[in-house]
Amino acid sequence: AVFESLSGRLQEVFRRLRGKGKLTEADVNDALREVRTALLAADVNFRVVKDFIARVRERAVGAEVLESLTPAQQVIKIVYEELTALMGGEHAKLSVAPKPPTVILLVGLQGSGKTTHAGKLAVHLRKQGRRPLLVAADVYRPAAVRQLQVLGEKAGVPVFQMGQQDPVAIARAGVEHARSTGLDTVIVDTAGRLHVDDELMGELERIKAAVSPHEVLLVVDAMAGQDAVNVAEEFHRRLGIDGIILTKLDGDQRGGAALSVRAVTGRPIKFAGTGEKLDALEPFHPERMASRILGMGDVLTLIEKAQEAVDAEKAMALAKKLAKDQYTLEDFRDQLRQMRRLGPLEQILSMIPGLGRLRELQDLKVDEKELARVEAIINSMTVQERRHPEIIDGSRRRRIAAGSGTRVADVNRLLRQFEDTRRLMKQMSSMERTLARRGGK
Ligand code: GDP
Repeated sequence: AVFESLSGRLQEVFRRLRGKGKLTEADVNDALREVRTALLAADVNFRVVKDFIARVRERAVGAEVLESLTPAQQVIKIVYEELTALMGGEHAKLSVAPKPPTVILLVGLQGSGKTTHAGKLAVHLRKQGRRPLLVAADVYRPAAVRQLQVLGEKAGVPVFQMGQQDPVAIARAGVEHARSTGLDTVIVDTAGRLHVDDELMGELERIKAAVSPHEVLLVVDAMAGQDAVNVAEEFHRRLGIDGIILTKLDGDQRGGAALSVRAVTGRPIKFAGTGEKLDALEPFHPERMASRILGMGDVLTLIEKAQEAVDAEKAMALAKKLAKDQYTLEDFRDQLRQMRRLGPLEQILSMIPGLGRLRELQDLKVDEKELARVEAIINSMTVQERRHPEIIDGSRRRRIAAGSGTRVADVNRLLRQFEDTRRLMKQMSSMERTLARRGGK
């Protein structure tokens, strides 16, 4: 899952910190040293780590924090806030032209996911009621025009192309076409190269001058880590960019690019790509990402996804229960069912507070068969048992195991996992409430 190793390490540091009760300055320094190591191991830019740790330390070692009733939570809160700030603070929206069409220029290296994300962006904008046009200005890779046409067809979005002609002329004609046919957003897919070179930059500059885009979005591959950050710096220095689409975040176990690209370029990540499919695009919300990294879950993104993909009412009800700590085995089962419809399990699990943190559930999450078993066990319980698992004694356990074709040990394990989850959710939701109150979310 996204940021898995970083997330695991940070959570371990904070778990130990929380176990301490009263904190000394030395405790905080020890913890921060470990945070620093974890960030460096996650391939976060060296300078970025240094500044980050300095900022956190300055806020965390004051008397106000150390002498508070919940010093560990205060430190975690500071880390959360600084992580959020590091990734840009607020969610950065796409700009919209005062007079349509809005022109979005997509630039980036070959293989970064540019063409795919042109399609995803079109789908995303159409869901918001916009009328996009895709323009095929990547004329060197012959397959690129065709690829964009296929994506356009799948997405139900028109594609403007003129074959292998001058990309500047194509971009200009594409914008003209949108204007004359009443399409309000133009997404120009440009050529990439394997490396940043003068010829490519020259061409992008000419396109930029010809169509005066409202957004120059750089598409970079998160899995490239610090190389992605260097590419972004280079594009920004030579071309000037307004924002970043960070792709392949689904395959990024470390998170170095996501955590440093904003600080290094000064430009926000506006979207994250999380898969190969056309709907695998998320508006990038720094505070939600920080929350996921710290294992506090991302209930908001989960709800948004649920609203798009699943029963919106159920998702809202779940959010309420999470907040009120009225979480039952029935909810646990409902979640499992919905998750299967929502997308790759690992992604979804990491968004649920507490769930991603549990070692047992981490084992569980990769195993669809295990999920089926869990569901069978819960189905074999009575309604009373699902709502009040504490009544499930030895004889009930035997009956449930027999009824679901599992062993008593499986039932025991599930109940333990459920209890752990519920306990963590309680902790996490009170923590999130604190954060929400103080962070002014
Ligand atoms: P371009 O050369 O920059 O236009 O790159 P493409 O759009 O052709 O994408 C290159 C490869 O990356 C393709 O195989 C895509 O399916 C894949 N890809 C693009 N975006 C994502 C993403 O967010 N996640 C994953 N897992 N794969 C992606």
